[in-house]
Amino acid sequence: MIIICKPDATEEDIQHIIQKAEKLGLRVNISKGVERTVLGFIGPEDVLRVIPLEVFPGVDQVLPVLAPYKLVSREFQKENSVIQIKDDVRIGGEKIAVIAGPCSIESYEALLSVAKKVKESGATILRGGAFKPRTSPYDFQGLGEEGLKYMKDVGEEVGLATVTEVMDPRHVELVARYVDVFQIGARNMQNYTLLQEVGKTKKPVLLKRGMSATVKELLMSAEYIAAKGNFKVAVCERGIRTFETATRNTFDINAIPVIKQMSHLPVVADPSHGTGRWGLVSSIAMAAVAAGCDALIVEVHENPEEALSDGAQSLTPGNFKALMAQLQAVAQAVHRTF
Ligand code: PEP
Ligand code: MN
Repeated sequence: MIIICKPDATEEDIQHIIQKAEKLGLRVNISKGVERTVLGFIGPEDVLRVIPLEVFPGVDQVLPVLAPYKLVSREFQKENSVIQIKDDVRIGGEKIAVIAGPCSIESYEALLSVAKKVKESGATILRGGAFKPRTSPYDFQGLGEEGLKYMKDVGEEVGLATVTEVMDPRHVELVARYVDVFQIGARNMQNYTLLQEVGKTKKPVLLKRGMSATVKELLMSAEYIAAKGNFKVAVCERGIRTFETATRNTFDINAIPVIKQMSHLPVVADPSHGTGRWGLVSSIAMAAVAAGCDALIVEVHENPEEALSDGAQSLTPGNFKALMAQLQAVAQAVHRTF
């Protein structure tokens, strides 16, 4: 574990922390920098967890060096990662990226129409699934490669970057030919073969949190991708399974600042899957922006009633436009822009 002291930490503050740790039987390594002191504790981490080091005077950050995720950890890289997607489209940094589009690609015309509208409202990345991970094998499974072609054509025609889900390691090359960003869906977050395959590419990856995965497990999955050499990973909070049944999932708002503390990776928020109900999407989108997300991914459909998947949580283009307007003030309050 590493403790980074505040620049104005006094010698007394530092000695106090050291004494506490030594009392617990830990060895302390002191590294005095020009600006601040960094304390490294060697020994069983569990012992340190019993004391809330974060609240000690003079403590800025407490970093678990023994964290199994290394490359994606905040201690590995202090600065926030910014992922270059295409032209001036990025995820990370002051500007919040907006990814919008239908849950599934249904037809060329429908995709084109919704793409134009979401772009007009401020989206820079078009979403849409061609391979759909459906709970029932009898539900619409997506248009496959035909859908990918629509995505590429519409993206180019409208001037939007594109993201789509890749479900199968055998499809990585195929999907890479058509879109700018791979999405790894919640159900595949721990498909390590798939993670390694996208890790071998240079394409950005939007990695969604598994519905029963901890933040640590999410970061371990991100580490799988980074360990293969692809550092262009954004992680996505999309709601988790809890005992609550009033909503499809429980959007874990904590995950946003927690991930920002633990990792330098950009954090994407998905209020659509996070709630499962279109009427809740704007509240959670605003909360996510306030909590510090770097991007939003929102499902938008011209006619949600007729959507082949996730209609209940899809915004109409009109509602999406209203949401974008609503979000401006929230972004401004937290010193971000769209
Ligand atoms: C989706 O984005 O449409 C999707 C299937 O998401 P998730 O993997 O989060 O369920
Ligand atoms: Mn969906």
